[in-house]
This record gives sequence, structure tokens and C-alpha cells, in this order.
Amino acid sequence: MFTYGCSNFTWNGTLRELKGSYPAFCTERGRPAMTAALSSCSGLEVLLSTLQNAGDVESTLNILNVLDELLSAGTDRRIHYMISKGGSEALLTALVNNGRTFSPNYTILLPLLHLLAKVGHRDRRIGMKAEEAGAVLLTLNLLRHNIKHARKAAACLWVIQVFSSSVSTANLIGENHGLDVIYHLIPPYTTKHLHSIKAAINALAVLLCTKANVGYVVTKGYISGLLRLYEDWHNKDTQHVAIAIRHALLCCLHNATDSSAGRQAFISQGGIRLLYQTTQTCLLSKSLASLVEASVQLMRKCLPKTPLPLRSDQSAYTFPLPGQPAAVPDVDEAPDESSEESDEDEEEQEAGSKDYDDDFETDLNKLRLRPEPDRPAELLPQYSRLCPELSHDFQDLDLSSEPEESSSSSSSSSSSSSSSSSDDDEAVLLDRMDRKRRAANSGSSTSSDGSETSIKGHSPAAPLATCDSHSSGNILSTSPIFRTMIEEATAEASSAQRGDEQDDDEEGAERSLHRTVIDRLLERHGACIPHHQPKLYCAAATRTRSIPGFSILAFPDFWGHLPPPRHEPMAPRRPNIQRQKVFEDVQRFLNTDDIINQVVFDLEDNSLQSHSDSLRFYSKFECGNLRKAIQVRRYEYDLILNADANTSQHTQWFYFEVSNMVANVPYRFNVINCEKINTQFNYGMQPVLYSVKEALEGRPQWVRTGTDICYFRNHFCPARGRRRTTFYTLTFTISFKHNEDVCYLAYHYPYTFSALKAHLKVLQKSVDPAKVFFRQQILCETLAGNSCPVVTITACPASRGWKDLHQLRNRPCIVLTGRVHPGESNASWVMKGTLEFLCSSDLVAQSLREAFVFKVIPILNPDGVINGTNRCDLNSEDLNRQWCKPDPVLSPTIYHTKGFLYYLNSIGRTPLVFCDYHGHSRKKNVFLYGCSVKETLWQSGSAVDTVGLKEDPGYRTIPKTLDRIAPAFSFNSCNYLVEKSRSATARVVVWREMGVLRSYTMESTYNGCDQGIYKGLQTGTRELQEMGVKFCHSLLSLTKDMKALYTRRVNKHVDLDHNILDHNSHNSFEDDEPSCVEEIEYSTYCPMPKGADLDSDVNCNMVNAGEEEEGDEGHSAAKRQQGCVGQSQQSNMKGRLLPSQIRQASIEVLSDKRNMCNSVNVTNGQIIG
Ligand SMILES: [Zn+2]
Repeated sequence: MFTYGCSNFTWNGTLRELKGSYPAFCTERGRPAMTAALSSCSGLEVLLSTLQNAGDVESTLNILNVLDELLSAGTDRRIHYMISKGGSEALLTALVNNGRTFSPNYTILLPLLHLLAKVGHRDRRIGMKAEEAGAVLLTLNLLRHNIKHARKAAACLWVIQVFSSSVSTANLIGENHGLDVIYHLIPPYTTKHLHSIKAAINALAVLLCTKANVGYVVTKGYISGLLRLYEDWHNKDTQHVAIAIRHALLCCLHNATDSSAGRQAFISQGGIRLLYQTTQTCLLSKSLASLVEASVQLMRKCLPKTPLPLRSDQSAYTFPLPGQPAAVPDVDEAPDESSEESDEDEEEQEAGSKDYDDDFETDLNKLRLRPEPDRPAELLPQYSRLCPELSHDFQDLDLSSEPEESSSSSSSSSSSSSSSSSDDDEAVLLDRMDRKRRAANSGSSTSSDGSETSIKGHSPAAPLATCDSHSSGNILSTSPIFRTMIEEATAEASSAQRGDEQDDDEEGAERSLHRTVIDRLLERHGACIPHHQPKLYCAAATRTRSIPGFSILAFPDFWGHLPPPRHEPMAPRRPNIQRQKVFEDVQRFLNTDDIINQVVFDLEDNSLQSHSDSLRFYSKFECGNLRKAIQVRRYEYDLILNADANTSQHTQWFYFEVSNMVANVPYRFNVINCEKINTQFNYGMQPVLYSVKEALEGRPQWVRTGTDICYFRNHFCPARGRRRTTFYTLTFTISFKHNEDVCYLAYHYPYTFSALKAHLKVLQKSVDPAKVFFRQQILCETLAGNSCPVVTITACPASRGWKDLHQLRNRPCIVLTGRVHPGESNASWVMKGTLEFLCSSDLVAQSLREAFVFKVIPILNPDGVINGTNRCDLNSEDLNRQWCKPDPVLSPTIYHTKGFLYYLNSIGRTPLVFCDYHGHSRKKNVFLYGCSVKETLWQSGSAVDTVGLKEDPGYRTIPKTLDRIAPAFSFNSCNYLVEKSRSATARVVVWREMGVLRSYTMESTYNGCDQGIYKGLQTGTRELQEMGVKFCHSLLSLTKDMKALYTRRVNKHVDLDHNILDHNSHNSFEDDEPSCVEEIEYSTYCPMPKGADLDSDVNCNMVNAGEEEEGDEGHSAAKRQQGCVGQSQQSNMKGRLLPSQIRQASIEVLSDKRNMCNSVNVTNGQIIG
């Protein structure tokens, strides 16, 4: 028996210091030649080197034992240290040396294989190293010779599993028929040798990570075999002692179905049905959760790809662009790069993504120097008209007119004194547009199939049919129920008069009936909604030009919305709700008995007759978006959204009418072509619903609604399969309160362009023109011929005296814009709050008007908003990526907004603040993005020295103030980074090119807050409007003058120096939601056994070392083994590699050593000293 020579053994507690002990191992073995070369090596290296060269059993065993003890006692760090010192190579060499002999000695080989498995799966290059050492096929051969020896086979299989982490090694094993050998090691249900069986399945699973190997098993019919094996184990493992084996079989299938050949085989062999059935019996047991999860993922992944039932992926709305050929649907195009694009609001915070760091702008010149203007200076004076407050003479201030008169004449008096008043502007532009259109005589626009009869005869963007509420027979809804409903609602009041009117001719009677009905409806039921007038809305809508020529108003937009009295908490997520929904979807595939699959609404097919017992849908109104509705089961509908006009993508926003429902029946809706990779629908957000019946009963409210909500990746693909797009399903269930109601469902609180126009009219009428200078003008005409409003709000000067006029003309400008992304209707509600506040008689608002001139462009993308697009303008571009060099023809609103900002710059009136209002679908709270050179450089880890860089920290004032005064605001979600991918956004361009220090994007959640007093609540329009007010409040903090002003005048109203709300957003830096409780994506791999599991398996393999290999195992042995393959294995790394008797001997030797030298502590020894 080999013993350590005490005199040579100077081991002071660390292996590194084993230096010098090497002779103790080798001089006795007669190999002194190595001594010198190794004199400077660490102790570990000595051990490893000896292992490779040791010729006899005893010393090899001893070294293995020492290594095992060392590695078992510590953390992975030790093993990684050993790998860095050539540990894998040493073990491989030893394996080859010992395994190559005619009759290998398994006393050495077994512990060696075990150690190799433990070390190898922590070595990423183990496959390559094994190939180089010639150990791969050798191990496979050892396996072949030991298929009857469970323990030895298991050891070989672990090593094969570890080697196969490299694709080339896995293929090498496949080419040498390793797959056949291993596959045939998997028996039907048994209680014997569970260890080796599990090892075989795991090895097979890893081997199936390569395409070649999957192709091989498919042709050999092993997929079918694996399914039958799974079925057998599932049926017979009634005591659930072989869960790990069942899970491992699912992993094999998972990996095999990563290739399309594998999926086809899986489906054709009835895999989906089998998993569906087996899973149903697993649902109740918690211990089987891992099997359910793996099965669900496998079914989701393997459901056959189904093209969306559309004739074309192109939007149903196409719009001929000036100077460009009309879009032809579904012409093959180059791969669409824009689908990769990340957007300002959504991807901004993807800190985890790999490319994130590369995205910071670290070029100091680009960060600090202003680029050349994108246009000549001669083009700027045209924008002087947008500063009416500078040229206005305020003559009416001297007139001692009665307030009443001055109020009513405000618009006319200002139009006489200023050529750029709103009405004049609008009239001139409309006239010009009409003339242009007549001259151009452009053809009618067509929807993509060209079949839309109702569109014919309209100019490219047709205004709402020439009517107002008084001349249209059917203006509010196409639903017949609607007629009945409002007639019933007004029956009492109108019964008398109706008799008279029925004498008219039929059509006239119909119209006048409707007119009186609408009028009376308003009289009787019209809610008093602040800043909303239904008739004004109608009038505004008639001038709104849409691609399809909308002639119907959605009731909620017409009638108005009041926020519900109570806060709406976020919806709780039912456990496993997604799983249940996926099951229902799988069932749809397996069992088609109850499947109706009936198209009940098609935006492109007016002739469609809906069935009496199905829901009715409609979406052809302003902001509407629903392309197709398909009844799939009695109470379940698939909904397909319309892509942004002129594109085939960006589906997310929806807004449609639904009617003909039965009360209190749960209807399931599936929006099946969503594109965002995750949304707040997985985190408590609900869509919004508006009920006409409720409105007529005095509750004109959009309310959050829906249960069983989840959002997950589905199996649909584009109709034409051109783009590799992944679609997601948003599913929710709604039980309507009333029978035969007419309801509206939307992604978020709708806010139409017509609503803005009506709102501005109301505001204009509401202000006292002697005090408030309010001017609505037209920035420009949009592509579709809508007028994009720009509003100027400031205080009228106290007098016409030089001093007061001078003060007015030197007020700093604040420029606010919004809704560049049409789907972000929350931005419009925030803007509504801002505008109403700025026009109000609130003392803070007065102070702000006296201090600043506000220039507001509330909707930067009117055409997108009108036509229900989610992201783009009609030019199919994201307008918030056009700011660097906006095209005057294709992106007119951006071109002219930028031009106006250039103009302000040129006259020395660079805005003090610029803020662009947005919505954020993936995050909670409200927050700002700003721009800072220093923070960008710090964050990017740039080498640029920032010490000498001077930067005004003033960009933080507003967010800091908001954090204190705005309950929905979260300072910790803000950042001030300049990313390359955002270089063409409003925020970055206005900061860089116009030199606006406080240039922001304000992001408002669609969902709610996770901090502050609104924690756990969804935001409603009240909270969004409040945010708009608070943003104004925060502007008070900007100047010292202002501070004085507010101290003097509004101290009692807003206290910026004290935390009136005692509100500070939580101090966490969590950027995104925690990962969803259920996988949104299919997991593309099955979680393989972790290192600890493998260690534990390996260790267990030695437990029964002394027991008979092939004989009948006793009951107790079987139990013990079952324990080891069960789910909750101990992740104990304690050394069990060597047969106990040998181990004991070695340990005794070591203990003796320890006692004798008093300096050896192997178990606690540190490899890295
Ligand atoms: Zn946005």
C-alpha cells in the first residue's frame, strides 16, 4: 500500500504549496526525470501530472481520491481552478491510458469516469479536448462493452453526455452509431437500474441537440419509440417514483422537435394528443408540475404553424404616397429589417440585452457638437406666423368691453387683428387642399383588395360623409340593436312627437326620426362631461379625413367619457391561467367537434352576413382597429388586427364595437396577431370596455374589464409566410352585463383626432380672452389632408405698456408634443390634462402663463391616429425616427415641427423645455427619458475623462420635482442616456440640434403603478390627466423668478419645497418586470439536469458499489435508487467516487498524515491559496 512519505510532505493547508512534494509520489516510482521540470509547479499541477503518468493502480487511485476529496468539499470554483490547470486534459489522458488496454481495470476506470463527469460538465471545451485526446470513441466503446453492467454503463453515459455538449462531438458519436447503442438502453417501465436508464436518456437528449442526430433518429423511427416509452412510463409509474425519467424523456422529445423534421415526426406520431392526454392526468399533483410544464411547452412548440386567415398581410388600408407607386400587396420584398428595430419607448430599458452597451453614443463630438441644420435659413421665416403672441398688438385690452362680448368675439377679433388665427388658417388651407385635390384628380384610394364599394369615389383621404349629427341616418352605429336601444331609451319623451313625423315620406321620416332621437337622447341622457360637447364632436369629425372614409362615429367618442368614481385595481392573475388557455388551444387542434370557424366580421367584406347567434363586430370608425373576427367556438372569437396603413406589421392597438351579446356569459376573445414580445397584460393590465346601455343609464365610462387575461406566443404565422414574424395571443374573457348591449372594446382609452379638435374648440371658448392668449393654428397639412393643430397659450400682458409687452415677448418657450405613436392614446389623455390645466383659472396655471409661452402640438401623427394605426404614419415610417432629416412631403408634421424649433432658435427663443408625450406598454408608472453627455459616458464605461466636462445638471430638476409631486411618477425609472438607436428621436434631436437642455420623452404606462399611492392600481384617464397637470406644476421649479412668484402667489396651492404627498418613488432599480410566472415564449430547450443533479447521480452510483450488479436487487436497493432518480435529489458533492473500502483506506492515511504533520487539512484546504 502506497503511503505518503512524511518527510517529503510539506503541505501547509493549500494545494498550491504542495510544491516539492512531487518527489514523494514519483521518486518511489522511479521517475526522477520529471522532478526538475515540475519544481516550480503548484501542488495541483503535480497531482495532475502524476495522474497522467502514473502506471500503477495504487498511486492512481490515491491521486483520484485526493482530487475527489478536494473537489467534493468546495465550490465550483475549485473545479474551475483545476480545469484552468489542465485538469480535464489530465483526466482524459488517464482515461485513454487506462481504457485502451485489453481488459481495462474498472477499479480505476469507474472513479476516473465519475471524476471526469463532474469536472467535464463544468468545462465548456470538454468536447473538443476529449476529441483531441481520443477519448470520445473510446468511451463509446467502453459503453458498448458494458451495456449489461448498469453501473459501468451509467458512468460511460455521463461522460458521453458531458462530451456531447460540443456539436462536433455529438455528431461524432452519432456517426459512430452511438445513438443506436444509447436508444436501445432505454427499456419500457421497470424498477431496476433507474440510474443507468436516466443516464441513457439524458445522454440521448444531449445528443439530440444537433440537426444531424435528430435527422438520424427521425429516419430510424425513434421519435415514435420515445413517445411510446413515455406513454408506458407514464401509465405504469403510478407511484411517481420515476418522475426524473419521465422528465428526461420529455427533454429528448423537446430537443428532437427543435428541428422541423422532428416536429413533423412528433405530430404524425400523435405526440400532441399523447401529451395532451397524459398531462390531463398530471394536473392535480404538485409533484408532477415539471412534467406538465415540459409537456405544455412541447405542445405549444409543436402545434403546426398556421397562417393567419388573411388574403394578404398588407394592411387593409393603403394610401397612395405622393411621388411613389401605389403599394402592391404582398410583393416579395427584401427581408424586413424594421422588424428588428427597437423603439424609443419599448426597448429603451433592455439593460439585459447583449447589444445594449454598444448602443450608447460614446463619440464625444456627436454628443456635444451641433450638426449642420438640415435646411437653409431662408426657409425659417415662414414659421414667424406660429408666434402670434409676438406680433399681436393686444388692442382689445384697451377696450372697456363687457366681458361677455369680449369672450364671444374673441376668435373673430383675433382673426381680424392677426392673419394667422385658427379659423382663417383652416379655411385657407382647406380651400387650398380642395383645389389641389381637384387639380390632381387623383384616383380613388383602395383597400388592399380593391373591392370596397363604399370607398369608391372618395379622394385619397375622404372626409366623413358630408353630414353632421343632423343629417346622417345612422351615424352612431351600424348595429340594429343600437337603434332599438336608443329608441327605447327615448321612447317616453318622443312618443308624442313621433306620431307627427311619421307623416313625412319614408326616408325623410327615417332621418328626422334619428335626428330627433339623437337630440332627445342628448337632452335626456347626455352626461355633463367637462370639456366635451357631442355636437361639437360631430362637427369636428365631419372634417376629419380618413383612408376608408369613415361615416360612422363610435358612440363613446361622440357621447364622451367620465372616469369611473373608484380606482380600478390591477387584475389578479389566476395561477396557471396561461396553461389552461394553451390547453384550450390544443384542444382546438385535437378535437374539432365544437369548432365553428365562422368569419363573422371582415373589414374588407361588407357583404358578410352575421349569424343571429353570434356576436357582431364593427371597426370602421375613427381610431378603430379590427380586421377580422372569427367565431371559433360558441363563445370564443379569434380577432385579427389590421396592420398599420401601407405596412404589414405593427399590430397591437385595437378598438372595435361588439354587439348582440347575451348577458353574463363568459366570452373568450383571442387577439391572435399581436407583435410585441411582452405586454403589461401579463402583469395586471386589462383592456377597456364602454357600454352604451351603461352610458344611457348615466355611466358613460370606459372601464377596465376582462378576466383570465394572458399574453403569450402562439403558433400563427403571416398569411403569406414572407416574414419570419412571431405572433402573440392576447386572450381575455368578458361577461357582458346587459343582454343585447352595444359595447366597445379597446387596448386603451381611445382618444381620436376629432376629439382633439373638438376639445381645442371647447378650450378656446372657455378662456377669458382678456387674460389668456389662446391661439389655435395649423402647423401643416398631413399626407391625408388633415390639419395638424399647434396651440399657443400664454397670459395676455397686464397692459399694452412697453414693459408688459416686453415681458411677454421675453417669456421663455415651452414646447410640448404628443401622440407621434398613434397607439399611445394614454399620451393624449396626459396632454388633455396639460391643456385643460394651462387654460384654467388655477393660480399655478396663471403663474405659468405669465412666465412662459406654451407651444403645444398635441397630435404629431393625426393620420395614424385617425386610421387606427399603432406605430406609423401613412408613409409606413415610425415618425419618431425621422427627426434627423425629416422629409417635407412624407413626414410633414415632423418637418415643420423641427422647422419651427429651428425658427425659435434663430430668433433667440430656444425652448426652455421640450417634452414629447408617449405611452409605454411594458412598464409601470410614468417617467422621463432625458439626455446627458456625462451620464451616457459613465454608463457606457467610456474611457473619455468626464472630470473636465461641464454639464448643466438642470435636466434633473423636472424629474426630481415630479418625483415629489406626481403620484404616478417614478424617478428611478428615468434615465438620461443617449443611444445611437435613438439618435433620430425627437428627444435626442431637439437636445443635440436645438441645444435644449431639458429635452424629454415622457412615458406613461398603459397599466398602472407599482409604487406610491397608486400602487397596485391601474391608471385611468383621471390619473393620466393628473399627470399632465403635475407636469405643468413641475415647470414652476425651473427658475428663481418662478420660485419667487410661486412663493408669493401660490404657496398655498403647490408646495414644491415640502413633500405634500410625502411621495418619493421607491428606491429600486428594477428596470423591467420580473419574468412572467408563465413562459411567454416557448422555451426552446428543456431544462437539462443541472450540475448538481449530475453530481448527485454520479455520487449515488457509488452507493451500491458493493452490491451485486446484475442480480435481482432487493427491495431496499430499489427504493434507494428510486430516491436517487426522484425529483429532489440532494446536490451533495461529497466524494463518493471510490469504492468505500479504498476510500476509507486513503482517508485514514490522510488523517494519519494530518495528525502527524499537523498541517494537512484536505477537506478544508484551499486550492487557491
Ligand atoms: Zn412612443
